[in-house]
Amino acid sequence: MMISFYNTLTRKVEDFKPIEDCKVGMYSCGPTVYDFAHIGNFRANIFVDILKRSLKYFGYEIKHVMNLTDVDDRIIDISLKKEMTIQEYTKPYIEAFFEDLRTLRIQPADVFPKATEHIEDMINMIEALQKNSLTYDRSGSVYYKISNFKNYGELAGIKPEDLKDGARIDTDRYDKDNVQDFALWKAKKLDGEPCWESPFGCGRPGWHLECSAMSIKYLGETFDIHCGGEDLIFPHHQNEIAQSEGATGKRFVNYWLHCAHLQLDGEKMSKSLGNFYTLRDLVAKGYDPIALRYTLLATHYRSPLVFSFETVEQSAAAINRLRDFRRRLEREKPEGGDVNKSSEVLETADKGFNEKLSNDLNISGALGEVFTFVRNINGMLDDRELTEQGRIGALALLCKWDSILDVLKESERGAVDKEYVEEMIAKRIEARKEKNWHEADRIRNELLDDGIILEDTPQGTTWKKK
Ligand SMILES: [Zn+2]
Repeated sequence: MMISFYNTLTRKVEDFKPIEDCKVGMYSCGPTVYDFAHIGNFRANIFVDILKRSLKYFGYEIKHVMNLTDVDDRIIDISLKKEMTIQEYTKPYIEAFFEDLRTLRIQPADVFPKATEHIEDMINMIEALQKNSLTYDRSGSVYYKISNFKNYGELAGIKPEDLKDGARIDTDRYDKDNVQDFALWKAKKLDGEPCWESPFGCGRPGWHLECSAMSIKYLGETFDIHCGGEDLIFPHHQNEIAQSEGATGKRFVNYWLHCAHLQLDGEKMSKSLGNFYTLRDLVAKGYDPIALRYTLLATHYRSPLVFSFETVEQSAAAINRLRDFRRRLEREKPEGGDVNKSSEVLETADKGFNEKLSNDLNISGALGEVFTFVRNINGMLDDRELTEQGRIGALALLCKWDSILDVLKESERGAVDKEYVEEMIAKRIEARKEKNWHEADRIRNELLDDGIILEDTPQGTTWKKK
């Protein structure tokens, strides 16, 4: 099936054609590991996860690279104050980031290169840029001269003449020819500041440079997809293009995909605005991480997502509907049924879901197909129209969709001791056999206190979480 994506570079929805037929190389910008990530950061990570899982669903093999920025101004300032090495300071935040990814069931990248472990690759890239007359030096620092790169501004849709008197964009603390020129190499400033030896003097690489150097190292000079939050389009991704294409003379990336912000009460969530929650805050408040996952994935990636606790509750309800549906499919044993109608409903749902998803990852449309399907199949089960073949097919389809959504399995945190529940159900069955209704009710209420709801059906007693 042909997949299409909105390409920020061309501002068009384009058919996706990877460089190699079945393989996709993709890069996404990772965290600066100086603190815990907030839920707004995870919107971009969930978007990348859905993108990756969708490409796998459609048969592609993925190589995904995500950098860890473990050196920048903040990290250096804080670690100096705390009298720690930057490794000592960043290590717990790197671990926390990986743990948060697991909590949200975000599949890890294949490679997580750290900036501090690729200084040599970055130095090589600066030397290539120097050869191509795209740099200048200022007191030990090396800057990129954007006026010497012909398409600067193309990704962001900014014309070169608008750039000249544009607002100050880079918060660099060194002298530059032009405010938008950015540092490739920053000279050491403070005593005790960590720095690396280089042909340009002791210093450290600029932030933009690490993504260019590390993506090329692991994915080649030209690769398929580069993605991230829309706040990275300018200047970060524009600068990556200037560096990579300036150094290699080749096209850097074929498809640029960006997701919109997460908003809280109509405002962008960010640390500077002080209106952010970390994932840990929300889990500590008792929100199910899988309901958070659903909340982050259910809105199309290019639409702003307004985060509210009400939406998280709605997500939890949606997940419960899907889990109830699966339990019902596992429990029922249809006989007879309408063969044609059963296969038709399955085919329509499969096709509908694929069409929506392949159209620039229209996940909200795809979820619409899922819930229409749940309603249709439930109705057919009620009316004894679903065949046994249809029941098996419906379960398979649900599992296939869940390879992208990943919400059917209960989260580990609220995990239920299944053996205990089964044991209690067995005891209750005994009590009912002995007509000890009081004991049977007592067991039911005890389980209810643990958040377990029992349902008596003609096939026996089943249970689910409240
Ligand atoms: Zn980046």
